Amino acid sequence: MHGKEAVLVPPLVRTLALLPIVPSGFDTDAFGTFTGDVARVGTALEAARRKARAAMALCGVHTAVASEGSFGPHPGLPLLPLAAELVLLLDDELGLEVIAEDVGTDTNFAGQQVLDARDALTFAARVQFPSHRLVVLAEGAPAATVRGIADADQLRQEVERMLREHACVRVQTDMRADRNPTRMRAIARAAERLAERAAKRCPHCHWPGHGLVGVERGLPCADCGEASELVRAERHGCARCGRSEERPRRDGRTQCDPGECQFCNP
Ligand SMILES: [Zn+2]
Ligand SMILES: [Zn+2]
Repeated sequence: MHGKEAVLVPPLVRTLALLPIVPSGFDTDAFGTFTGDVARVGTALEAARRKARAAMALCGVHTAVASEGSFGPHPGLPLLPLAAELVLLLDDELGLEVIAEDVGTDTNFAGQQVLDARDALTFAARVQFPSHRLVVLAEGAPAATVRGIADADQLRQEVERMLREHACVRVQTDMRADRNPTRMRAIARAAERLAERAAKRCPHCHWPGHGLVGVERGLPCADCGEASELVRAERHGCARCGRSEERPRRDGRTQCDPGECQFCNP
């Protein structure tokens, strides 16, 4: 529904022999929305699996790709938001489930209560509006939500109208992929990883779907040698047999600076 095929299809058709079909009339909002009117059931992975299986049933195929985003406060860095994009390739004929992610703080995810239109415009100025759209919501009235607000006049009008009718009005970033270029870029990065992983065979079982499954922390300090919180190595694993192995960091770093070490620079 939100144009993700623009970034999902090119890397997948480059590495895999796929003929992509975008199902028409498929209501992905039924699996959860970012404005709270439809709550997502379960984890992002479970939601992506449900979307993929529903698309397979609708199109009569055994392979599907789905994506699911999650946004919230960063667990380790107060005041910063964390964005996680998960993309999934399911093949029920091969019994294959390949997952790739893009996780980071590169997101405009934010929202706040507003008391007047000026509040809303001040908020808009710091979340890349109007290249990134906005949503106006009234607490306790999900049906009143206005999405995809694209210009300052419309924002002012909607906020003033909502404030006349509701006690508590909020403005938040529109997280739908085609209204949020930052999010679309994150999905594009996850899609590149998915395509790379789906095309790569496991060195143990030779099944496709081998790639980055996580990271190992503890990059040693160049000065004291203690393990830091920084990423020491990547872990690459198989989507089928579950075996994994450690790989060095892509940037070749094997040590951290004493300035990044919690023992030398607490
Ligand atoms: Zn140190
Ligand atoms: Zn394997």
